[in-house]
Amino acid sequence: MANDSNRFQAIISHCKEYGFIFPSSEIYDGLQAVYDYGQWGSELKKNIRDYWWKSMTQLNDNIVGIDAAIFMHPTTWKASGHVDNFNDPMIDNKDSKKRYRVDHLIEGFADEQVAVGNKQLAEDVLSQMDALLAKDDFASLKKLIEDNKIKCAISGTSNWTDIRQFNLMFSTEFGSTVSADDEDNKVYLRPETAQGIFVNFLNVQKTGRMKVPFGIAQIGKAFRNEIVARQFIFRMREFEQMEMQFFVRPGTEGEWYKYWKEERLKWHLSLGFDPAKYRYHDHVKLAHYAKEACDIEFEFPIGFKEVEGIHSRGDFDLSQHEKFSKKKQNYFDNDIDPATGKAYGNYIPYVIETSIGLDRMFLLVMSNAYTEEDLSTAEKPDSRVVLKFPAKLAPIKLAVFPLVKKDGLPEIARNIISDCKSSFRCFYEEKDAIGKRYRRMDALGTPFCITVDHQSKEDNTVTIRYRDSMQQERIAIDKIKEIVTAAIA
Ligand code: ATP
Repeated sequence: MANDSNRFQAIISHCKEYGFIFPSSEIYDGLQAVYDYGQWGSELKKNIRDYWWKSMTQLNDNIVGIDAAIFMHPTTWKASGHVDNFNDPMIDNKDSKKRYRVDHLIEGFADEQVAVGNKQLAEDVLSQMDALLAKDDFASLKKLIEDNKIKCAISGTSNWTDIRQFNLMFSTEFGSTVSADDEDNKVYLRPETAQGIFVNFLNVQKTGRMKVPFGIAQIGKAFRNEIVARQFIFRMREFEQMEMQFFVRPGTEGEWYKYWKEERLKWHLSLGFDPAKYRYHDHVKLAHYAKEACDIEFEFPIGFKEVEGIHSRGDFDLSQHEKFSKKKQNYFDNDIDPATGKAYGNYIPYVIETSIGLDRMFLLVMSNAYTEEDLSTAEKPDSRVVLKFPAKLAPIKLAVFPLVKKDGLPEIARNIISDCKSSFRCFYEEKDAIGKRYRRMDALGTPFCITVDHQSKEDNTVTIRYRDSMQQERIAIDKIKEIVTAAIA
């Protein structure tokens, strides 16, 4: 693959060609930054979702999950600050009329500089940008763009407007009798899942008899009217988040922040991914309520980018909901404070949030798995595209092929599938030569293929072929389930 941009394009094409991801409503030419997951993409996405859910809820006895509605009372978003503050600084190019998020425009410029060897300039520009964003100094940010002659990709000019704020929430109306401009009936499509957790904090704490520290996890859709939305599923207008809010006693948030920061990176590495492809990015610009915040970044084919955020949010969200709803959000802690010898008593818990995009994680898994291999020999040129997914995430775990469509071999193959399909996803295929069938399964990332041949009828053995090494060996039919189950545990 010549370069990373080609690699990114190759991944996008592969996703479409093999039924992972299609542009939304493609027959109408698609809808910008909205995508549909196909037959294998939805399996992969579900496996990532399940892996996160299990790690958070099943493996932590102090974390429970919920599933809140996408629509929430409009006051939620006033309390959370999204109505007033969920803005991004934007700049328009006067010639192309194209609008950019200022940080993305400057980051794009920095990436280009790195690509042509000007690493130092890229770093300088990014650190100046961080400092100016932290101060909301829009005039100097515009000057930074102009001084570096940053151009619009469409017009090729540096003819920029001033920088302005732009709200990213989508809104719609509730009910059938209201007019569209009736502010009281305006509801928003949630821009994050977190608020569904905060407004249910006491419901879950009381009914679940939860004791601080404890967490509430949720997976669900979120919507943002992203301006620069041209990086495939990296930045979408409709996407899915996997968030966990961990409620702690005030004063302990520093140690819990550190704990979750490390724990979340461990989760990524538990999938066998290369640690060198990960790094932390500690935030310089903190929201006014935030105590600490960082991103876990991954080296995508489009460069190091955020995949997950860890934020120490203090008691901001619960206090705001208490203020706007006029409902107490206190927790009574009856543990004894060694300093006073008395119970800690009433307080609003502090929160550590872990927030990861499911679609972004999908792209991470896909980018990591996508491999083009040259298998040429002196006799003939050959190559393959293989998706080296961790076996537990692979959409199909086991493919079973009868060597020929007769002589009772399809029946044996079908019996193997009947025996395994309640434990994991299997796939049956009898068309084409075996080599071609293997390559098709490589392209879908299936870790194990089984071929049933005439010898299978004699001694109940089959050939198992391993995706990554392409090694083949003879095994007993009754060992198949055990081998696959062990690999996906
Ligand atoms: P970015 O700076 O990339 O816009 P963010 O800091 O606004 O992201 P958060 O609000 O912290 O993101 O959301 C948590 C996670 O949700 C992100 O780490 C990312 O994985 C995911 N996410 C956010 N926006 C999008 C989007 N438009 N499309 C896909 N995933 C997203």
